[in-house]
Amino acid sequence: MYFPSMNAGLIDTHAHLDRFLKNGEISGVLSAARGAGVEKIITQSASFDDWAKYRDLAASEQNVYWAVGLHPEDITEYSSLQLEALGSFFAEDGRARPVAIGEIGLDFFRRSSWTEDAAKVISRQTEIFERQLYFAKQFGCPVVVHARSANRECLDALRRVGMDFSKVVFHCFSGNLSELDELVSGGGRASFTGIITYKSASEMRGCMLAQGLDRVMFETDCPYLSPEPLRGSVNTPANLRLTVEYAAREVFKIPFGELAEISSANAEEFFGI
Ligand SMILES: [Zn+2]
Repeated sequence: MYFPSMNAGLIDTHAHLDRFLKNGEISGVLSAARGAGVEKIITQSASFDDWAKYRDLAASEQNVYWAVGLHPEDITEYSSLQLEALGSFFAEDGRARPVAIGEIGLDFFRRSSWTEDAAKVISRQTEIFERQLYFAKQFGCPVVVHARSANRECLDALRRVGMDFSKVVFHCFSGNLSELDELVSGGGRASFTGIITYKSASEMRGCMLAQGLDRVMFETDCPYLSPEPLRGSVNTPANLRLTVEYAAREVFKIPFGELAEISSANAEEFFGI
């Protein structure tokens, strides 16, 4: 028999808190998250500028953890050099140490507007992605993969590197059922954002249901992707609750408290938090 606990204890596995730090809103955002039952937040790096900021935030805020990495759309001429500093963060103690390498991956979504030769962009993104996967192997940590219009290519890169799929999550999963099956049968997993609450996202909801409860994790990807009925506004970790409530009610058809507990246990195990 299932007994719902008083506190939902949700975990936002993928947030970008830099905007709230910059605007001086971070303490309000974190206390609103706690008020909504979001107990832990993993802030995911996009660019090099995030790294020291997020390390300091995780070291000082009890509920915040961080991931270090370079997002494929934030790759610059300096990225290769910056990666030489990435490993040093794993020498940090306690909460200052990253819990994952993320977010990293491949993004070919805006390919039609690339001003550079496509082969060049693809090879640079792939090189930076694979170098970060090798770091993850070296440090034995999970990776948070951003795959946009590049699910096939990300899966191929993970195999080339010989990545242990049990340490791989495709965040904001946007692939199809056969890509999901390849990811999950290899031991990997998909996590889901507020997009699942959008009317048009039936394929994504189908993927979430197909993966099942064993590995499901939730995220806001804030400040982007606010769930309904807040779509279009600035997203914050507190809104994770709306996404998990929706998934419990409309997709898994189980009590909210049960899905909160299951997904948080999955996230704690995956990220070791
Ligand atoms: Zn993200």
